Amino acid sequence: MKTLMNYIDGTFVPAQSGDTIEDINPATGMVIAHIPRSTKADVELAAASAKSAQADWNALTLDQRADWLDAIADALQAKHEAIAQAESLDTGKPISLARRVDATRSVDNFRFFADFARKQQPLTFEMSDAMNFVERNGLGVVGLITPWNLPLYLMSWKVAPALLMGNSIVAKPSEMTPLTANILAETLDELNLPRGVFNLVHGLGPEVGQGILEHPLINGISFTGGTATGRIVAATAAPMFKKLSLELGGKNATIVLEDADLDQAVQGAVKAAFTNSGQVCLCGSRIMVHASIADEFIKRFVGEVAAMRIGEPSDEATQIGTVISMDHLEKVEFYINLAIEEGGTILTGGTRSMMGGVGPTPEGAYLAPTVIGGLSHLSRCATEEIFGPVVTVHTFDRLAEVTEMANATDYGLAGSIWTQDVEVGKALAKTIETGIVWINTWLHRDLRTPFGGVKHSGVGREGGQWSLGFFSETTNICVMNPRELGD
Ligand code: NAD
Repeated sequence: MKTLMNYIDGTFVPAQSGDTIEDINPATGMVIAHIPRSTKADVELAAASAKSAQADWNALTLDQRADWLDAIADALQAKHEAIAQAESLDTGKPISLARRVDATRSVDNFRFFADFARKQQPLTFEMSDAMNFVERNGLGVVGLITPWNLPLYLMSWKVAPALLMGNSIVAKPSEMTPLTANILAETLDELNLPRGVFNLVHGLGPEVGQGILEHPLINGISFTGGTATGRIVAATAAPMFKKLSLELGGKNATIVLEDADLDQAVQGAVKAAFTNSGQVCLCGSRIMVHASIADEFIKRFVGEVAAMRIGEPSDEATQIGTVISMDHLEKVEFYINLAIEEGGTILTGGTRSMMGGVGPTPEGAYLAPTVIGGLSHLSRCATEEIFGPVVTVHTFDRLAEVTEMANATDYGLAGSIWTQDVEVGKALAKTIETGIVWINTWLHRDLRTPFGGVKHSGVGREGGQWSLGFFSETTNICVMNPRELGD
């Protein structure tokens, strides 16, 4: 049993109150760690420490900070397996997924931003009589608040560019998945990152998170999480004129056109719907399939889903582990029951376990991947974010109809289109109100590209230049040419 600490001013410390929160393994229901239940008093110390460290950190060159990012990537790479194990234990996700996605991408984020920084060119604008130099500095102290579904993956996606641009950090991971943020803090401590540059404060959203949002020394907030929380973040931070990046929920469409390669589309739709038990903001939780191929597509899709292997997260062969908690499982079940009330038909799944006692235990938050047909695309199940292993299937006849269906939700994060006519796919993509569209693939990421959503899925973009832009302020220095001075 671990007892985690906050990491403030280069020291591991408990919450000042001494209170703790239990961290529970969703596969067993067992307590695996205690974390500090911090308060605004702990945020106060972290923000003050970050503030005192920021100027020196910002005074390093971009290349020097890029070297730090590479050193962090190397150190995390050496802990790849430990990160994967911790992530699987905390979230209930299959160990194979935690290795392939979470642990790998957490290292890649640091590596990517280090390389990206070295390719930056000075930004200048020449006039006939003067030269403009655009200088970038860190915002100051930034607050980074992250969710439970991809814990270190998403935290490192913010920490790397924030450090790179000269910011100091007060970070808060989800209270449900604190283990890998602790590994990151230990790693930075082992590397002797200057004290105060990175501070980690564990605890509950309305306590620690709210404290970060409200703190006057914190100049910017990068938040990834649910839309309802995002609304609180915006309401608190915007009147203080804090710079804000909001990466929120999604209800993404997987659109299968009449000419799609069915093998590819079925495989893609399964992956989009059920990766991480549907707990990826980008998951395709609504499938819209052309009526002419719907019977064949649905038969094959349901067959693939029913054959997915549910099992203990530590089993290498497991494809579907648990959802994040029993509370979340009950929320997802609420939507499955609602779907039945709304006139839907469960085509497969809908139950807590399909393993007949093998693997999943009653204490574990296991839910079979669930496909629901027969619902209106306007039903609650087809428009609200469920964030679990549940997908609804709908049919359409015309492209204009599928555009209307895809846009009939408050969310606008991502989507995928499956077609052999790329031009038709691209034209359709432009009609969908969303930040990201994949054609004949899903979650294929180039870290230089903009990532983020529209409507209730968020404000702003992260990735490549967009992250560097968010985590910096620019000063334009305009220098008059010497020969013009006397005129
Ligand atoms: P959440 O909003 O409940 O929590 C996210 C973080 O915010 C946690 O650290 C939490 O403790 C903190 N928090 C809660 N209340 C707060 C408050 N009042 N002030 C400040 N912080 C507070 O989200 P979750 O349940 O952890 O994650 C799931 C959600 O995240 C889903 O909606 C999913 O779509 C979304 N998500 C979005 C993206 C994206 O990039 N758009 C990526 C991953 C997850």
